[in-house]
Amino acid sequence: MAIIRTEGLTYTYSQGTPFEKTAVKNVDLEIEEGELVGIIGHTGSGKSTLIQHFNGLVKPTSGKIYVDGQDIWDEKNCRIRDIRFKVGLVFQYPEYQIFEETVYKDISFGPKNMGLDEKEIDRRVRETAALVGITDAQLQKSPFELSGGQKRRVAIAGVMAMEPKVLILDEPTAGLDPKGRDLILAQIKEYQKRTGSTILLVSHSMEDVAGFASKILVMNKSELYCYEDTPQVFKKADEITAMGLSVPQITRVFGRLRQMGVDIRTDVYTLDFAVKTLMEYMEKNGKDIEQC
Ligand code: ADP
Repeated sequence: MAIIRTEGLTYTYSQGTPFEKTAVKNVDLEIEEGELVGIIGHTGSGKSTLIQHFNGLVKPTSGKIYVDGQDIWDEKNCRIRDIRFKVGLVFQYPEYQIFEETVYKDISFGPKNMGLDEKEIDRRVRETAALVGITDAQLQKSPFELSGGQKRRVAIAGVMAMEPKVLILDEPTAGLDPKGRDLILAQIKEYQKRTGSTILLVSHSMEDVAGFASKILVMNKSELYCYEDTPQVFKKADEITAMGLSVPQITRVFGRLRQMGVDIRTDVYTLDFAVKTLMEYMEKNGKDIEQC
């Protein structure tokens, strides 16, 4: 069953004023449980507005949204508070929202709000802290004694500790160096593996989502351009580039080889797969590495 489903989802800011702007237009979507979804699109394409619908932070101007089969704006049968526990949202630069005296208290804030008992809270805090590389000693420190990357991982752990069925992260790698970026992406992937939850990761970079996501959702000018398996999306690399989004460097190299007349596939987006594809090509065409 779809964990998130939308029907004709539309959202217009400042409706009826001269500043009216439709940020999400008529989106029909079904996201299956356990999926790792990369959401990409230009700045202003509607990504943030779309995801804020999924936990009821904004109410659609028109259309419907179902979480776990439930119409979340059916006020008789659904409480938005419950949806917030089911769908956790990590905003951009979440480290700016850290406010507790200790790292422990910060991670436990969400689980406490859920009314869980102390033992369960403690289990969740320690497990998620360990997952994001925070030691027991660091749990007792002030969050302000941590590095920028650590603070961000603490903020993410705070939402993970609520064990939502769906975890949404808006640009979790923004402003990080490649090492920090890879670390966060690996930890999110590990969290997904352990919990089987659904992950939606918003990014403006195809590079970020390429090796990470099982499916990619592309937003373009407030509309859903496509939602497909990652390899399918990379078959559209030319269209995506024409949209002004940059595809990973390795995908560009294979596209260029194709343009030069080399009969090679172009849906290549990770280094491992690039090596495999090149080896297969050489084997088939009887060329050795030197010639290539
Ligand atoms: P993205 O996350 O892809 O950058 P957004 O959902 O933030 O896109 O924005 C989509 C469109 O809605 C943009 O044109 C943006 O200017 C507009 N928008 C976003 N937030 C607001 C707001 N609070 N008021 C008015 N317009 C907004």
